[in-house]
Amino acid sequence: MPPVFRFAPSPNGYLHLGHVLSASLNADMVKAAGGLLLLRIEDIDATRCRPEYEAAIYEDLRWLGLAWEEPVRRQSEHFADYRAALARLEAMGLVYPSFESRAEIAALVAANEANGPWPRDPDGAPLYPGTAKTLGAAERSDRIASGAPYALRLDMAAALARMPRLIWTETGTGPEGESGTVIANPAGWGDVILARKDTPTSYHLAVVVDDAAQGVTDVVRGRDLFHATSVHRLLQTLLGLPEPRYHHHRLVTDADGRKLSKSTQATGLRALRSQGLTPPDIRRLVGLD
Ligand code: GLU
Repeated sequence: MPPVFRFAPSPNGYLHLGHVLSASLNADMVKAAGGLLLLRIEDIDATRCRPEYEAAIYEDLRWLGLAWEEPVRRQSEHFADYRAALARLEAMGLVYPSFESRAEIAALVAANEANGPWPRDPDGAPLYPGTAKTLGAAERSDRIASGAPYALRLDMAAALARMPRLIWTETGTGPEGESGTVIANPAGWGDVILARKDTPTSYHLAVVVDDAAQGVTDVVRGRDLFHATSVHRLLQTLLGLPEPRYHHHRLVTDADGRKLSKSTQATGLRALRSQGLTPPDIRRLVGLD
């Protein structure tokens, strides 16, 4: 069986040099390993994703010389798969609804911080204080029936209580040079969101369901997602899904050393194309060849 790689952009903006590096590394590794390259459109956020960005992704990747297997998987067409995975976690008693707004959570965290530092996740966001975990079943269903917005969270403590020590195989490197066998630390993320009232999945849930559904054996992606792998390994284990190999690669940064964002004009692939750069020029710009 050939190894299966995937490039999984979100169509919420035009591709920039960070995407180019990720897509090109995937394609290079596919070539070296005699593998298959899949393309997945991560379009669960209907408020930010737009068809013209998706069309631009195909066009830009073809211009770069990339080819991928068809059909492309679009996450918005697979909500039933994510609902089914969520239902399995619910049946294990590992999911609970929380009703606080972002501002209410910030106030709860601030109140806790009066007594000392409050833990933050690897992205720097304060952990959810778990307040809604104590709501009774009747109160939960009343609030949901009233139409209140809510997020469905993983009860991390309950999930970890069922788990052996989780590891993954890293063939790239993490932010602290982690490589080889890495010990996962999902607890560092707290009670992560798995879905919301109007969106039946989160990034974490969709990515593990899709990697399994598509038979992905090798996840090659930016180092900014290194720590998210801890959550992915936990969800894979809870759901009985296979474990891919992981390769986290360096990030392309701007002149000030910051991670690129989709709004950075200077590093947008379209802007560089319109200046007359060729695909080999673009590869050199991201440090390949
Ligand atoms: N959709 C994610 C992004 O564009 C990548 C997800 C992944 O590779 O796991 O950053």
